Amino acid sequence: MPLRTANIVGSGPNGLAAAITLARQGVEVQVYERAGIVGGGVSTEELTISGFHHDVGSSVYPLGIVSPFFRTLPLEHYGLRYIQPETPLAHPLDDGTAVTLERSLTATAEQLGRADGKAWRTIMEPLTDNWSELVTSVMHPLTGLPRHPVRFARFGVYAGLPASTLAKWKFGGERARALFAGNAAHSVLPLSHLGSAATGLVLAASAHTSGWPLAEGGAGKLSRALANYLHSLGGRIWLNEEIASLSDLRPADVTLFDTSTRAVDRIAGAQLTDSFRTRMRHFNYGPGAFKVDWALREPIPWTAAGCRRAGTVHLGGPLAEIAASEAAAFTGKACGKPFVLLVQPSLFDPSRAPVSAAGRQQHTAWAYCHVPNGSTADMTAAIEAQVERFAPGFRDCILARATRNCAQLEAWNPNLVGGDISGGAMTMSQLLLRPTAYLYRTSNPALYLCSSSTPPGGGVHGMCGHLAARAAMADHGV
Ligand SMILES: Cc1cc2nc3c(=O)[nH]c(=O)nc-3n(C[C@H](O)[C@H](O)[C@H](O)COP(=O)(O)OP(=O)(O)OC[C@H]3O[C@@H](n4cnc5c(N)ncnc54)[C@H](O)[C@@H]3O)c2cc1C
Repeated sequence: MPLRTANIVGSGPNGLAAAITLARQGVEVQVYERAGIVGGGVSTEELTISGFHHDVGSSVYPLGIVSPFFRTLPLEHYGLRYIQPETPLAHPLDDGTAVTLERSLTATAEQLGRADGKAWRTIMEPLTDNWSELVTSVMHPLTGLPRHPVRFARFGVYAGLPASTLAKWKFGGERARALFAGNAAHSVLPLSHLGSAATGLVLAASAHTSGWPLAEGGAGKLSRALANYLHSLGGRIWLNEEIASLSDLRPADVTLFDTSTRAVDRIAGAQLTDSFRTRMRHFNYGPGAFKVDWALREPIPWTAAGCRRAGTVHLGGPLAEIAASEAAAFTGKACGKPFVLLVQPSLFDPSRAPVSAAGRQQHTAWAYCHVPNGSTADMTAAIEAQVERFAPGFRDCILARATRNCAQLEAWNPNLVGGDISGGAMTMSQLLLRPTAYLYRTSNPALYLCSSSTPPGGGVHGMCGHLAARAAMADHGV
């Protein structure tokens, strides 16, 4: 049947990417979003005090800026401007210094000592030298032949390893090991798991090539740029429309779900085969997150100067401590000293926070740590203790805070099942068969999945939506 009309359930970056891909080919698209604003994990709200603009989910876009799909869109004409923090990432240590991941590979390697600096170069240079080919490969399904097999093979040797194995094998010193471990922890896998090195390699290489940018004015600017471009193509977005069953949708040739696998099971119900529904229910979700947003009187008083010029700061000290924290979250155990990922956008974008009555620029920051899926533990004190460890006096800077545990994250956005921010555990098997061997397709030829529960998985890049839309078009002769 020719494809003339499509419904998209959910307006996260993947839903909007799917809608744009279809609308560009002349398909009439309607997007249904349960929230009052577009964007899902890419949105900005005044969560604490009026005038303080907090990114409710994501803030940092190393994958967004290189996304093969986003790069084809005229988003800057629709209000998106990326800001590059002076330093992508700082990782403070207990000796009062910080190791930093700089845009310059050389400047990074120089901080790691002679042997580890050389090792960092040896690992990173083949990735940065072949960056666009590597991005194309990792941003597509890993099933089938890679697009650049020779170059991808070189990356694959290291990427398939557990992050802690690679770090201990290649680096003798704590600085390089800790820096790499913090990057790898974005995989939300134990660092002893096969494949956990991949995320660390891609993120570190992205810092040296395209950077870890923020969206000027907040994450919501990226979503609004996508939404406004979609409008220009004739697409429609319905806000405050929660889809509970297929009968809530206007008739269309196909429907794409920017939702969790569990929502697909609930919404499509009997339109799917029993065996497919079982697989949707049994798709594994990984650790959750506990997030804190702060309105701050002044910048965070970091001991190490490197932290004061970084957009992102990793708080967890040495590799062993980070590995223990990630393993605990994955195996359902509490961790008193969690690995914390912190972002301080207002240092580089003053529009995020107002000037005080006394004429001082105020600030915003957020941090989260991984916790067992569904955990209701309040991690505020543990997170703030980690910030104090490397920035004594931090607590005195806090004007207000807003926190969300796993249940509260899921209540805000039901795609965050049990607080999982990646759309399902990024284990080797779930990266290959995400969420099934059909990838974007379901057992019903008119229904598709397009969220981060499909390849290439979590992160803001829109590739899941774009590739799902292409699958739908290929199936229906567009
Ligand atoms: C706290 C946090 C920090 C993060 N930090 C980063 C970061 O810095 N960089 C990065 O790249 N990634 C980050 N991420 C991950 C990133 O936000 C996600 O990977 C990305 O948003 C996934 O996009 P998506 O379109 O698949 O789903 P989502 O962005 O989750 O969007 C799904 C949308 O579907 C809607 N929806 C769901 N069910 C229904 C329904 N039944 N009816 C109607 N609408 C529905 C939801 O309301 C939501 O708007 C972070 C996530 C969180 C939560």
